[in-house]
Amino acid sequence: MSSTALIFHIQRFSIHDGPGIRTTVFFKGCSLSCFWCHNPEGRHAYSEIQFVASNCIGCGECVYVCEHHAHQLKDGERFYSRALCVNCGKCAQNCFSGTLELIGKRMTVKQVMDEILRDSAFYESSNGGITLSGGEPCLKSVFIRTLLEQCKQQNIHTALETCGNYKWDKLNSLLPFTDLVMMDIKLMNPDKHKQVTGDSNKRIITNARQLVLTDKPIIFRTPIVPTVNDTIEEFSEIVDFIEELIELRLKRGKASTNDANIQLELLPFHQLASDKYKHLGQDYKAAQLIPPASEKMHELAEIAKKHAIDVKVR
Ligand code: SF4
Ligand code: SF4
Repeated sequence: MSSTALIFHIQRFSIHDGPGIRTTVFFKGCSLSCFWCHNPEGRHAYSEIQFVASNCIGCGECVYVCEHHAHQLKDGERFYSRALCVNCGKCAQNCFSGTLELIGKRMTVKQVMDEILRDSAFYESSNGGITLSGGEPCLKSVFIRTLLEQCKQQNIHTALETCGNYKWDKLNSLLPFTDLVMMDIKLMNPDKHKQVTGDSNKRIITNARQLVLTDKPIIFRTPIVPTVNDTIEEFSEIVDFIEELIELRLKRGKASTNDANIQLELLPFHQLASDKYKHLGQDYKAAQLIPPASEKMHELAEIAKKHAIDVKVR
């Protein structure tokens, strides 16, 4: 049986998604819809057209091939209707100007492995490996279990970047083949979490507590987003929770905080994704937010350090 998953990007030579040089595989589809999301291509679990109007040379190929009349060229004006588009990708195959691209490609485990293995020499020399990201990779847990298992057979270090919003059994089934888990902790207030991400944080909190009862190295990640979690009060609640998690792990017989193998990374909100929203026809609700200053990021990091948490600002 060859199952497939919808992949929107495979990033080679990545140095920000875990140790060493890595290949990061981005899966489409997520169970949250954070309004500031930096990867809007990963939100929907279906392929979609990216439309960069400024690249169009008006050749009319898309108008010709689209059976759904989603493209029109009239009096020098260019129209594309997402309401009529069924995301079949035919127009993108026939557009050579870079205006149209189908985001999301169905791939088998073998196809993804072939991409991963192209850079195996770099993983060895840099203590790197692969990272599964998204979107939310764990929504395709059967597919990624096979992928992770095959990476481990090749002795490749494996990391999982996850929002943690699903049943524990999913993550638990992946742990035997995962060397590092990077899990987001965005906010502790469940009502506000629902308001800004579309779902409560109940499952995330439960999964984080379960995860620290294993011996897996963990990096908890907190995107620092103005109006969401950048106040001292809201960030301190996250710090208190990370402290609780470290204590939980240490109760299992670890000698010191350093041995807990739990880190916290703070990622500043940025505006680099705003064009992506425009090109995907998605509403960018974080357009007015101002990214946190470096001083703010370090002020928050100091709070975590006071609680003896191993914290990094990215
Ligand atoms: S095929 Fe591409 S370049 Fe040609 S009209 Fe359509 S979008 Fe523009
Ligand atoms: S993806 Fe298919 S339906 Fe959508 S505009 Fe292109 S050809 Fe038409």
